[in-house]
Amino acid sequence: MKISIERIKKDLDSLSQFTADERGITRVAYSKEERQARDYLIEEIRKMNLPYYEDGFSTIFVRKEGRLKNAPCVMTGSHFDTVYHGGRFDGTIGVICAMEVMRVLLENGFENDYPIELILMNAEEGGIFGPSTGVANSRAMMGTLTDWELDNTRNREGKTKREALREYGCEADLTKAKRDPETIKNFIELHIEQGPNLERHNKEIGIVEFLGGIGRYYVRFKGNTGDSTMLMKDRNDALVAASYFSVRLDSVIKEMGDDVTGMMGQLNIIPNSSQFVPEFVEGKIEIRTFTKEIVDKYDYPAIIKSLLKETEEKYGISTELEEIRRINYSNPTYPSIFNEEVTENIRKICEDLGYSYMYMHNGTGHDSMIMADHVDTNMIYIPSRNDGVSHCPEEFTELEDIEKGANVLLHLVMDLSKS
Ligand SMILES: [Zn+2]
Repeated sequence: MKISIERIKKDLDSLSQFTADERGITRVAYSKEERQARDYLIEEIRKMNLPYYEDGFSTIFVRKEGRLKNAPCVMTGSHFDTVYHGGRFDGTIGVICAMEVMRVLLENGFENDYPIELILMNAEEGGIFGPSTGVANSRAMMGTLTDWELDNTRNREGKTKREALREYGCEADLTKAKRDPETIKNFIELHIEQGPNLERHNKEIGIVEFLGGIGRYYVRFKGNTGDSTMLMKDRNDALVAASYFSVRLDSVIKEMGDDVTGMMGQLNIIPNSSQFVPEFVEGKIEIRTFTKEIVDKYDYPAIIKSLLKETEEKYGISTELEEIRRINYSNPTYPSIFNEEVTENIRKICEDLGYSYMYMHNGTGHDSMIMADHVDTNMIYIPSRNDGVSHCPEEFTELEDIEKGANVLLHLVMDLSKS
């Protein structure tokens, strides 16, 4: 059995039409364009003659029953929403390949033991409703999304998540959206790498072993400005203070060992000039964790606070810490460890099909990260070109790489759905 790259190309080209403007793809959650994409996908699903349904959060599921009754399903899919001026491939390719896998199985009369379900999500991208509001469909499904978030986070038009969903035609019902994790045997997501590694190493398939947990924080430093002749002894330079903090943070994180990384970046400096002393600096800290133990071992906000205190005392400035956290999750979050037996399975499939592969653990937020806490989850990466840029119009993946990824997914779904 083999997937058809022509049909994948057709889906990809068709979905690329649904964008709010010409610069890349803008198809944000609950927008008109996202609705058009959804209508297209549903039309394609109808051709499969399989039952499909929506949960209480506008997530679409398509189900192919198996020989075993009341058995947990093998679920595969991804998201078809994008950021503002994003690319054609992020998320969308996982949706299209999952649909193609289902078509091939149906055409060939494949008999699965466990049910197979497609999942098509429309609100993965964070930032549309403010920081840490993404991966919403999977959070709704796993019961960690809250009504508070629906009523208190707003998009660019000032609409809350609940209001935007209502206009979109969905009355949000988190009780209805919640799904018993026991009903899902495996969750599999095919995704573009969004990084340069596969391209650089000239590999065709990325087998993801785990994704690091993420902690995010804003830190602010407030000093006093003055012109460039201000005597050094009179200064309270916010940038000098922030620099000290950055060096201290670096050394403290290094002391924690190899299971954690962290840094401060994305600086906003006011005034940003060589003629005036900076009076204000805002920076963003990102911490990544690679084991559960390292998350539990340290109180990260407390460590940052104590370094800020030390900086205040040394430079006579004031500081502020703001946590960017996802409700119901620790900050940093635990890493998402994927199922080892299934990564082994993916490796065997790559070898059988003659595809080159490498193990990886780079990447940021995906719905798989949410699912991994509750269900055996795995990800397959395919190469991103142009040095791995994504979330921009230059995001690009070759059709032949998509074809290979889809074939791996096809064989994996077949294997996992047999008892
Ligand atoms: Zn994505």
